[in-house]
Amino acid sequence: MSICPKCKAEIDCLFWDRYPHQEGTLNLNKDGTTEIDEEFNTISMQEAPSIYSCPNCSKELTRDDEEAEEILKDKDELKEIVAKKLKKMEKENANNKRKNK
Ligand SMILES: [Zn+2]
Repeated sequence: MSICPKCKAEIDCLFWDRYPHQEGTLNLNKDGTTEIDEEFNTISMQEAPSIYSCPNCSKELTRDDEEAEEILKDKDELKEIVAKKLKKMEKENANNKRKNK
């Protein structure tokens, strides 16, 4: 589980979007038919940036693949460290109680 930096909700995944983009003009031919012409500003699926957003608040968190990974990973590592420290403290407390008796 990770925490969304925007809404602080617990999230275990990120939404991923990628929009290919295509523009052109729709032209009317002399015979009355229409035709799309002059494609420009075309961004293919490969070129389009990935957009990662929170599944809870839908806010965009990053467009960077590595940063998206870190958002998910870092918090997990932090939680693991905290969990380990808590276990260690519990053990130490148990040991201290035994010693005090
Ligand atoms: Zn959120």
